Amino acid sequence: MNSRTNYQKAIVDIYHRIKNEENVGEVASYIPELSKVDPDKFGVCLKTVDEEEFGIGDWQTKFSIQSISKVLSLSLAYKKLGDKLWKRVGVEPSGSSFNSLVQLETDNGIPRNPLINAGAMVICDLLISHCDDANSDLLDFIRKICVNNNITYSKSIANSEKSVGYRNAALCHFIKSFENLENDPTDVLDFYFNMCSIELTCQELTRTFMYLVNDKFRTADNEQILNVSQAKRINAILQTCGFYDESGEFSFRVGLPGKSGVGGGILAIHPNEYVIAVWSPKLNKKGNSNRGMKFLELFTTITTSSIF
Ligand code: GLN
Repeated sequence: MNSRTNYQKAIVDIYHRIKNEENVGEVASYIPELSKVDPDKFGVCLKTVDEEEFGIGDWQTKFSIQSISKVLSLSLAYKKLGDKLWKRVGVEPSGSSFNSLVQLETDNGIPRNPLINAGAMVICDLLISHCDDANSDLLDFIRKICVNNNITYSKSIANSEKSVGYRNAALCHFIKSFENLENDPTDVLDFYFNMCSIELTCQELTRTFMYLVNDKFRTADNEQILNVSQAKRINAILQTCGFYDESGEFSFRVGLPGKSGVGGGILAIHPNEYVIAVWSPKLNKKGNSNRGMKFLELFTTITTSSIF
């Protein structure tokens, strides 16, 4: 049985061990603004189901969560639309990179899952159709769960991505050509870039994702974010699709549902136990944080706390 002390000791030991090793990989530079980040940043935060929290390193520094935000937009859309959602997007791992165009052609514009860029764009489209104002509703949703009004979009990161977002624009227009978007691709893209530009700390990430750990989680006004079955399904998608064409590798090495972003963040969930966020900006070739993957592999191995 793991106690908080065991988790805390493992985090301290692994953090120092990895910090002493060479920091390999490349910071994402295809979004110009992201290349400005200090590559040596390294933070970790763990929050247990009993609301105990432990952080180390740069755990209270904000960073660009990028694709981790796709879990939040998916959760909001699932809450609003229920299972109708799955008519527009699949639940199969893509085995392809996050921004791949190829499968859309044979799949008639239905993205394989909601965590690749194409799938996240369809979710953005659904939110635009079903919210009064998708941009502010998504922020309000996250602020309410995290109990933090200090969460915003980064205009500089969103604009930076938009200025070079040719591939995402291609994806979005391609989906529209199959009539799997209701709204204008320009509006969908603007919302998608805003969503990806959200900045959170590791501490804020763990607070925000408690609803996927603890089925008793309620907001201050006693709202349940997702029901037990919906939370199970989101965790299942995280397990199989959270790391693009490295989802199998993450599952094999770490054994937890999780989600990465090209800002170098990784969030992992142990249902009924804990949520852990790691941030280190240098990425491997698949676009996932090198030190983040290593940290989580060691953490679940040393504490024997994976779901398998
Ligand atoms: N905004 C990024 C993109 O669309 C998100 C990619 C990611 O974090 N994997 O390219």
